[in-house]
Amino acid sequence: MNAEIIAVGSELLTSERLDTNSLYLTGRLNALGVEVVYKCVVGDDRARLSDAVRLAAGRSEIVVLTGGLGPTEDDITRDAVAAALGRGMSFRQEIADHIQARFARMGRQMAEINRRQALVLDGAEALANPNGTAPGQWIESDGRAVMLLPGPPVELEPMFERECLPRLERMVPPLVLRTRFYRVAGMAESDLDQLISPVYKPYANPVTTILAAPGDIQIHLRARCPTLAEAEALLAELGAGIEALLGDRIYSRTGEPLERVVGDLLRQRRETLAVAESCTGGLLGERLTSVAGSSDYFSGGFLVYTDAMKTALLGVGVQLLAEHSAVSPQAAEAMAMGARERTGATWALSVTGIAGPAGGAEDKPVGTVFTALAGPDGVCSLRSRFLGNRARVRALAAQTALDLLRKKLNAAPG
Ligand code: ATP
Repeated sequence: MNAEIIAVGSELLTSERLDTNSLYLTGRLNALGVEVVYKCVVGDDRARLSDAVRLAAGRSEIVVLTGGLGPTEDDITRDAVAAALGRGMSFRQEIADHIQARFARMGRQMAEINRRQALVLDGAEALANPNGTAPGQWIESDGRAVMLLPGPPVELEPMFERECLPRLERMVPPLVLRTRFYRVAGMAESDLDQLISPVYKPYANPVTTILAAPGDIQIHLRARCPTLAEAEALLAELGAGIEALLGDRIYSRTGEPLERVVGDLLRQRRETLAVAESCTGGLLGERLTSVAGSSDYFSGGFLVYTDAMKTALLGVGVQLLAEHSAVSPQAAEAMAMGARERTGATWALSVTGIAGPAGGAEDKPVGTVFTALAGPDGVCSLRSRFLGNRARVRALAAQTALDLLRKKLNAAPG
């Protein structure tokens, strides 16, 4: 079954307020095996909202509206849904009494405009709202449901749990939703998609989603099946095809970030790591230490931005820097070796490069980065060229360094 969510409220179209209700609702609907296929935000405009409801109700079995159930003129959800579904509305005295009682408990008089909140669409069930005045509404016909829920999350969430979930469970065929995550480093999104799309495109189920960040791609597979075993089998089948193509480029099958994967490998091997950073300015150390318990394997780092600091802290030769410059494989390797020697760590990673926007040269344009890894069997380095702004180049450089170590650890079992 498919669902659509319509968040109502002009404030949600400003930069001040975010529609978070739809994220909560999507999580709950997905857990029932319902896919959210479309969501939108509509301002306080009756005609636009009616159009959106008509469209959604015409193509999806479940439509959830949030917000716009207040008592004022600009709370237009009831009117707009009534118009879209061609239903009338009637005044329910018991709801008005309930609202009045709520006001009385707060020592206040109910304003006349609150009576508007006692209007219920023909054929709708009113949904109790213990945390606010506006009741929700549930309209079900021909195996389809439209629900009107209040905007404030403290009102919406309990109402959805208590009133909507039991009704949805009755309506929705019991499907199990299972997911699988892969994380991949060192590939561009377009290259990855070109490689794996022939494998996942033929599958409507599981649904494959690709989320890309600099140097870090997440592949989500979601299977919806009548039984857990069928969902797991489908995920295993599609997963095997994807794993065969991506191989070692997959660094996580459970969703953990690269710094945690590398940290776990080091911990298992009882080995340690130090870093020497120039253009990443501490990013690598920050990522490694963001993992709780990283003191088990992270020795520390050197933030060596100038040539003088590279020499003073890491012993990088003045001659070497004069001959090859600080952005060179020689400098990167000398930094890694110096960091390893001075900390006594098993491994040391280094990064030196040109993050930009200035400082590029013809043979070393902006985005040129050298990463090096020193370890028990010597030192190696990698030249990369990253495109994008300073933040992106730095993020990619840190990711590449961590992935260099991950590959080394996987290739040489401890
Ligand atoms: P009320 O009866 O309290 O007026 P309502 O259903 O009319 O409820 P709105 O007036 O549309 O709700 O929204 C009230 C407040 O709820 C908003 O100011 C906002 O803080 C919050 N809210 C509304 N919609 C959302 C949303 N989609 N995501 C997160 N918060 C929301």
